[in-house]
Amino acid sequence: MSVTAGVFAKGLVEVADGVFAYLQPDGTWGWSNAGLIVGEGESALVDTLFDLRLTQQMLDEMAPHTSRQPIANVVNTHANGDHCYGNQLVAAPGVDFITSASAMAEMDEVPPALLAALTEGVGDDALGRYITHAFGSFDFNGIEMPDVTVGFTDRHELDAGGRQIDLLEVGPAHTGGDVLAWLPEERVLFAGDILFIEGTPIMWAGPVSGWIAALDTIIDFDPSVIVPGHGPLTDLDGVRSLRGYFELVDRLTTERHAGGMALDDAIRDIDDHIDDSPFCEWSDRERIVVNVQTIWRGLEPTFTNPDVLTTFQMMADNYVAREEKA
Ligand SMILES: [Zn+2]
Repeated sequence: MSVTAGVFAKGLVEVADGVFAYLQPDGTWGWSNAGLIVGEGESALVDTLFDLRLTQQMLDEMAPHTSRQPIANVVNTHANGDHCYGNQLVAAPGVDFITSASAMAEMDEVPPALLAALTEGVGDDALGRYITHAFGSFDFNGIEMPDVTVGFTDRHELDAGGRQIDLLEVGPAHTGGDVLAWLPEERVLFAGDILFIEGTPIMWAGPVSGWIAALDTIIDFDPSVIVPGHGPLTDLDGVRSLRGYFELVDRLTTERHAGGMALDDAIRDIDDHIDDSPFCEWSDRERIVVNVQTIWRGLEPTFTNPDVLTTFQMMADNYVAREEKA
């Protein structure tokens, strides 16, 4: 069976015998991908989705496979809600929830109730419009996260009914505790949010060198199919393209910092540069704000990123300005 990079049909796609991607176009804010590995007598799930309705839809679509091979292990690739807020729907006696110890520590940093309050209380200003754009399609009520049962460091090998799944901690990069799930027999990689395809990545944690190293780890695996955290199925071209984005933003940020430019000016200037690059086609361009801030923090240890609301305000202003220009 061969699955082509670029496939982005909604729902379950078999990427190798008994190995499935669950894809959610269009891959922008909150529209994440997941995976299912069906073994002998049991299955493993890679990530749940941003709310209970979407996760239930996914589990229903997986039911023909999981009714006889029930999900025994759930891997969360990191702590962002669009990869774990549906966990409770898979919770049952004997089911393990597995992630890195660092991701486990981040799991309660953004409680679903906070997102529920944020999306319900918005106004019609730039911030309100942006939050509705990013999170308005999801229902954050009723979410109660079950405890992680296995928090590993570095590596963890999982057996899913006779199928080997190697879990590799590659964070901090996108978040503090990013995990790759690699199936060496099938040469399938579930990348979590180490890979955004056709969308701009967002580097909450960094350092950028850590993210680039994680991409190099993927390149060394030489997978036959890669399931990104957001966007269509991809291959090493997709990985190299994202690597190119981070190299460019890293270089542009370092140059401007060394030249004494102020951070806000640097963000604007780098954003203009992106206009003339292949990355201008990617969605969620406003995430440049966070990416430059995070690289800046690496260059200037006394700098701390603004709080989340200020950061969203900055992305909102960038998003609305672009929307109005279009
Ligand atoms: Zn995500």
